Amino acid sequence: MATLTVDPRVSGATAEFVSSRHLMYIDGRFVHAASGKTFPVYNPATGDVITHVPEAEEEDVNRAVLAARRAFDDGQWVRMAPSARGRLLWKLADLIEQNNDEFAELESLDNGKPFSVARVADAPLTVDMFRYMAGWATKISGSTLPLSAGYDFHSYTLREPIGVVAQIIPWNFPLLMAAWKLAPALACGCTVVLKLAEQTPLSGLRLAQLIDEAGFPPGVVNVLTGYGEGAGAPLAAHDLVDKVAFTGSTEVGKLIVKAAAGNLKKVTLELGGKSPAIVFPDARIDQAIAGTASAIFFNHGQCCCAGSRLYVHEKVFDQVVEGVSHVAEEIKLAPGLDPACQMGPLVSDEQYQKVIGYIESGISEGAKITAGGPVSGFERGYFVRPTVLTNTNPGMKVVQEEIFGPVVCAVPFSDEDVDRIVKRANDTVYGLAASVWTQNLSLAHKVARSLRAGTVWVNCHNVFDASLPFGGYKQSGWGREMGEEVLHNYTEIKAVTVAL
Ligand code: ADP
Repeated sequence: MATLTVDPRVSGATAEFVSSRHLMYIDGRFVHAASGKTFPVYNPATGDVITHVPEAEEEDVNRAVLAARRAFDDGQWVRMAPSARGRLLWKLADLIEQNNDEFAELESLDNGKPFSVARVADAPLTVDMFRYMAGWATKISGSTLPLSAGYDFHSYTLREPIGVVAQIIPWNFPLLMAAWKLAPALACGCTVVLKLAEQTPLSGLRLAQLIDEAGFPPGVVNVLTGYGEGAGAPLAAHDLVDKVAFTGSTEVGKLIVKAAAGNLKKVTLELGGKSPAIVFPDARIDQAIAGTASAIFFNHGQCCCAGSRLYVHEKVFDQVVEGVSHVAEEIKLAPGLDPACQMGPLVSDEQYQKVIGYIESGISEGAKITAGGPVSGFERGYFVRPTVLTNTNPGMKVVQEEIFGPVVCAVPFSDEDVDRIVKRANDTVYGLAASVWTQNLSLAHKVARSLRAGTVWVNCHNVFDASLPFGGYKQSGWGREMGEEVLHNYTEIKAVTVAL
């Protein structure tokens, strides 16, 4: 294997971790893949190989699931005092916080996002998530129920951990997605096999080291690196898994549902989106321009809730499109670790080709470009310029399909359309999120009610918090992550009735 050089801009700790031998975490031990196989991890800013990680296959999945099964069935974790489970989660949060910038460097190196963003968003939100769920560990409870069947019964519910959970995550927020999955499952008393995205395994492998350091019992958390078909598919299908929680594309989400059918394991899914941002003429225009630009360009548009359809009232359409296009043109593209970087490369060559393909398809179908376009001007790396398209129509691929890149379609609407605009916004197979921009309180709430989406933001977009449930209507998913709501994903309810 050729000697690999780590980007000189990263700290000594990150360089040391990246150049170390990477191992998966199964049953409290750091291990190679059973086959000894590894696969390369790429730097999206250059296309160079950063390092190699183990390639889990069915045998490794089996080992991890058996470890998680044993750790669940032996009862040690389930019966651990909730306060002790909460303390472990809190301790893990502290360890992540102590290594905040190292995690941000890993995310930047591996995913391409700006280091400056990862250190104030991805890493601290991860810490918040573990702390928030640490608090829930002691508050998961059932209720007592008055029976109409008769006074001489005492009935109550127990909320119990669902069991062994398979968790499969994507590459857009590698560390944060791990936290969204792990923290609630562990707070509820489940044991977990987590499969990281093959494009971005580094922060999850570092997290596994901290999970070990925090002192979680062996087998409670297992972390695998591998491809979707080789590792994800056998994990989703495994008969000893009680539940699979998946975040990724709608296409793979449907495969997960099929794979889960064998033992009817429970399934939650957080899938794609084509989120509308609707700007009414009375909106504070500067705020709407900055906000809707950030709605689509944050994380290079690689967000399932990216505001990729921009509906603007015709009175302010030109102004908003000009403003968003100006923001787009001003965004500084650079490798994520470059201090000047405001937008890094997309995560992979595959994503790059896909997004450029969408821009070209928009142009060939008659869309007009007011910012960006298919040519990045970079010789290396998967850079795509933030792009604004107008002159689209509802049938175009760019308007209907999730692009998962920094590309927005701006569409005007008129006074006569105000009632219809919600219908148009809802005219998609997705229903993840939406934003509404207006100063009219009544209009804001009316539109919020009518949108078929799991999240509606008013005069903001992409506001996340550990306390806010997040998930989709329609083909954007099943179930909700975060908030109290996520506890339903990882618990079963048992009704107990005693004849007195
Ligand atoms: P994206 O298109 O954003 O890369 P995917 O849905 O392909 O998202 O991938 C999200 C996660 O699902 C990754 O961890 C990937 O390895 C995994 N995955 C892909 N295909 C399958 C599959 N057939 N079964 C289970 N997991 C899969």
